[in-house]
Amino acid sequence: MNFISTRGGSEPVAFSEAVARGLAPDGGLYLPESLPDISAQLSRWEWLGYADLCEEFFALFSDLPRERLHSVVQSAYSRFDTPQVAPMIKLDERTYVQELFHGPTLAFKDFALQVLGGLYEEQIARTGRPITVLGATSGDTGAAAIHGLLGRQGVNIFILYPDGRVSPLQERQMTCTGAPNVFPLAIEGTFDDAQAALKDVFNDAAFKDRVGLSAVNSINIARILAQCVYYIHAFLQLPKERRSNVEFVVPTGNFGNVLAGWMAQRMGLPAKSFRVATNQNDILYRFFRTGRYELGEVRPSHAPSMDIQVASNFERFIYFALGEDAAATRSAMEQFKKTGSFFLENFDAGSFRTSRADDADILRIIRRVKEDYNYVADPHTACGFAELDPEATSVILSTAHPAKFPAVIAEATGVEVTSVSLDALKALPIVKHRVAAEKSAIEGFILTALGKA
Ligand SMILES: *Cc1c(COP(=O)(O)O)cnc(C)c1O
Repeated sequence: MNFISTRGGSEPVAFSEAVARGLAPDGGLYLPESLPDISAQLSRWEWLGYADLCEEFFALFSDLPRERLHSVVQSAYSRFDTPQVAPMIKLDERTYVQELFHGPTLAFKDFALQVLGGLYEEQIARTGRPITVLGATSGDTGAAAIHGLLGRQGVNIFILYPDGRVSPLQERQMTCTGAPNVFPLAIEGTFDDAQAALKDVFNDAAFKDRVGLSAVNSINIARILAQCVYYIHAFLQLPKERRSNVEFVVPTGNFGNVLAGWMAQRMGLPAKSFRVATNQNDILYRFFRTGRYELGEVRPSHAPSMDIQVASNFERFIYFALGEDAAATRSAMEQFKKTGSFFLENFDAGSFRTSRADDADILRIIRRVKEDYNYVADPHTACGFAELDPEATSVILSTAHPAKFPAVIAEATGVEVTSVSLDALKALPIVKHRVAAEKSAIEGFILTALGKA
């Protein structure tokens, strides 16, 4: 199976090459050349454990030898805290929560980044070239990337984050690993300052070459494919009589998670619909209502991992919505870059529904879900409960453990939630490096750390 770019200007490449590159050379995002039909496999997959299902699914796309794929996938999910990996909790006959927070950083990004870390390690073993991963984070992605890569052979990871502006628990997840290949860089300034400095470093071609620089971001195709798996798994966990009218409800920011579910549907998973649940940063909510995609200002919310301005994975959906027309995709993205908006005429949302929740809604919902079901939802998951289809069987994807947001949970319910692994972190020493948010300081730090100064 080859992978093509949404902008049509890059040659098709195999899976391992698409993973190594991340972004396609023409600036587009990789997608499988054609989507396989999985509908005939579903009954065979019914009894598979999570990692086995993931391995079967990746085998449809991957050019890795099967035993290598096996070891990447099995080791990725061996680090989750329950053998079920993605347990389904039944709240009532029509309402299920799929818990995606049993990985090392207690958020759903572990599903993809544990696999991606293993794929990077494979690549390094194959090419003999070590890599240096550099990223900027406002929280969850950085922690999940660090835990996907910590202790891996041949890779060092440097993550920039705004000092004092990520939650204390998120900071501990990044800085208390004790791993010698992990370097959390606390910069003075905001997340935007971190991103601007990051961009300058990536534009320095000589430096990039010298250290084998690689990005970690939400657009790698391996992340999307890894996320398809839990939709299939959830569907196969439902009682047979509940499978005809399934709506997946997905707390959404960069559109990576829900896109994966929708792609699984295009491959033959018989889900009926997908609800794009946003917080008050509702660019996608507005799009699915009107067909107009228009930049707004980011307003910090109780669900910070969904506080986005531009949904970086949205281009993949636009490509399909425009009839897999790369030229039209390119021009829509160019128009968006120039004017901050574009409009799809006669837009049909198809199997997408949408809802939004502001901070007051989030608090109200957390309280109500606790009262109705004795279940504590984290603030991101709470956005999913804003509006449920009374006719459907709803599967709400729970993207984070509530203990990551103790203050909001306490305000909503008066309950103190805890997690053994987060509590354990509080006893470990913080190791972080203060660096100025500028190219020369960051490059200097990296070269020294790699012994190349
Ligand atoms: C990243 C994140 C989201 C948003 O997921 P997208 O794939 O960006 O739509 C939602 N909830 C949590 C807890 C996250 O970390």
